[in-house]
Amino acid sequence: MQKLPDINQNFSEWYNEIVYKAELADQSPVKGCIVVRPYGWSMWELIQGRLDLRIKATGHQNCAFPLLIPESFLKREAKHIEGFAPELAIVTHAGGKELEEPLVVRPTSETMVHHMFAQWMKSWRDLPIKTNQWCSVVRWEMRTRPFLRTTEFFWQEGHTAHATYDEAYAEVKQMLGEYVDLAQNYLAIPVIVGRKSDQERFAGADITYTFEAMMQDGKALQMGTSHLLSQNFAKSFEMTFQDQNGQLAYPYLTSWGVTTRLIGAVVATHGDQNGLILPPKVAPFQVVIIPVASQPGDTVWQAADKIRLELEAVGVRVKFDDRDHLRPGAKFYEWELKGVPVRIELGPKDLAQAQVVLVDRLSSKKQAILLVNLIDSVQAELIDLQQALFDRAQVRLTQSWHKAAKLDQFGPNLENHAGVYQTGWCQSPACELELKKFKATTRCLIEDREFETCFNCDQASIADVIVAKAY
Ligand SMILES: [Zn+2]
Repeated sequence: MQKLPDINQNFSEWYNEIVYKAELADQSPVKGCIVVRPYGWSMWELIQGRLDLRIKATGHQNCAFPLLIPESFLKREAKHIEGFAPELAIVTHAGGKELEEPLVVRPTSETMVHHMFAQWMKSWRDLPIKTNQWCSVVRWEMRTRPFLRTTEFFWQEGHTAHATYDEAYAEVKQMLGEYVDLAQNYLAIPVIVGRKSDQERFAGADITYTFEAMMQDGKALQMGTSHLLSQNFAKSFEMTFQDQNGQLAYPYLTSWGVTTRLIGAVVATHGDQNGLILPPKVAPFQVVIIPVASQPGDTVWQAADKIRLELEAVGVRVKFDDRDHLRPGAKFYEWELKGVPVRIELGPKDLAQAQVVLVDRLSSKKQAILLVNLIDSVQAELIDLQQALFDRAQVRLTQSWHKAAKLDQFGPNLENHAGVYQTGWCQSPACELELKKFKATTRCLIEDREFETCFNCDQASIADVIVAKAY
């Protein structure tokens, strides 16, 4: 088996190769579109399962809107079409004829959802409307990278309508909070939370909140966003309701989404030279059992299968690698590459001593565990690993989080070594544009405040901003 590219020297190539070698995804015949393979999709289902639970627990209902949207819908909100026009895929022919009005393959569904919301709301009693859909969308990307940027990607898009600004704002923050919980406590990825600059926010939003993580190469990755939309959306779609005073009013709208990019974030945050390292909570298999010096049907084989059943009974996701044409070494290599958190090795000598060998993916340390303690040990190990991965990523983020007052001090460093820089900013687009010289962008405005003046000009800083190179 060929070794992976050097993760420290050539992170980008390492990333591309591990995604395919670990069988998370494959390239497809359509440029920029990947096939998510069963191993990758299992991860997505675990992420989806957790988030879907929270989406419902916070009072939203799932539904499904059409894939195709009349082109005129997108044109109704000026900023929205301006932002998305270059990325649209448009259907002009169908049923053997040219269509009277072209249909856009949804890049996001605000316009369709809002058209429908307008039919559904009559009075304040119909509000709030809180919906979500799980689907795929298409944005024609020039440069793609598996999971991190693809032409078609899977996601959830939440869309809500509220009677008051305060309610809508609370919704935006609540769902942002759910995302941060998912990132930190499930994906084991520490994040920076903040507000996007006017230039970086969603096309048609008043406020876009983001949560960003830092990958191992020091580049930032936007993990997801939560938007308070401009009232222009409501106005463009003639969406009104009768308020409690009998007056016609426009609702306040939100939308929020995370995508299969989260899989890419897990890969790029936790992997090492030997492959993926999956946080136990989102690992399709948390434990792999590999029999050693054993044949199908012998006592070791039977014991291995019994361990599988016992672990499954307490809710652990287990793979018993019972392929008899592969040597244990080849199996170790493969499951290490695929990032399974815990490996259990079991041979005749172990069985004679009523024990197994347990190896965690992070430290590769071997521990002999008595069979009577196995379930407790595995469960403890999974909890420890989940925490250890978060802690390791947190240390990396803290070490790469620099504070600097002026662009000429940190710009060259940022370009050469990446990492995130906290600085002050006057919030003028002209100063923001200066960052391009160092291939960097503003990632988000944060609440923490340390700088009085802008990183570029002599104006007062309005808020501290995080600057980084980004995916
Ligand atoms: Zn400035």
